[in-house]
Amino acid sequence: MITITDVHKQFNTLHVLKGISLSVEKGKVVVIIGPSGSGKTTLLRCLNALEVPTSGSVQIGDVKLDFSKKVERTSIPKLRKQTGMVFQNYNLFPHMTAVENVMEGPVTVKKVDKEKARAKAAALLTKVGLGDKLDHYPAQLSGGQQQRVGIARALAMDPQVMLFDEPTSALDPELVGEVLKVMKELAQEGMTMIVVTHEMGFAREVADEVIFMDQGVIVERDTPSHLFAKPREERTRQFLQHLK
Ligand code: ADP
Repeated sequence: MITITDVHKQFNTLHVLKGISLSVEKGKVVVIIGPSGSGKTTLLRCLNALEVPTSGSVQIGDVKLDFSKKVERTSIPKLRKQTGMVFQNYNLFPHMTAVENVMEGPVTVKKVDKEKARAKAAALLTKVGLGDKLDHYPAQLSGGQQQRVGIARALAMDPQVMLFDEPTSALDPELVGEVLKVMKELAQEGMTMIVVTHEMGFAREVADEVIFMDQGVIVERDTPSHLFAKPREERTRQFLQHLK
């Protein structure tokens, strides 16, 4: 479903991603962990071309972009459409209700009929446990509820892959569980997911594979049981030690 080959990203002189290669099969859940500044967010953003890689290629489903060559402007939206992104700070439109936030993408980008889009948005919000909050504005919702709207909004575009960038980091601890539960359900339904998170419990329970990144490279990747119990690399060991 996803193939990334030798992706580099530089911000001027700062070399943030130093040759990332990775493939993820359909229906798999990959959790990315690593110290702050190691390039996890940048990697996710390169996957949907919110950041344009300096070189390397990204393939999601049947859309492949080779950034080492000249990429046509029209192909970037094609790649982006394959992915749904969930952000740390929800990024909801404050002046729109929950249901309006979720139907906005389908209506404006996909030109879906408004009533159809509204019905689908209502169904998605019900799925994430917010069937009674359709007409609430973000400010009237808790952080956990806002993030669940964020997930419903990403799903509304029928993505092939869901990308989560520290989706629970901004939440009060008591609200983390409700968001992880929705993510776990999505995983069980067979959604292909890449999740940057510090929630090691979620990684242990839900991930098929955990990737440890440091200083712009993938240091180690393994099943959660192996990586957490017996990391092969000293850097991974030190990072995990730090979390305890
Ligand atoms: P992580 O998600 O692992 O904390 P990031 O991908 O956010 O790491 O950041 C990796 C490095 O790239 C950091 O040093 C950060 O300051 C830098 N960086 C990220 N985005 C930009 C940007 N738009 N311009 C310049 N530097 C950036």
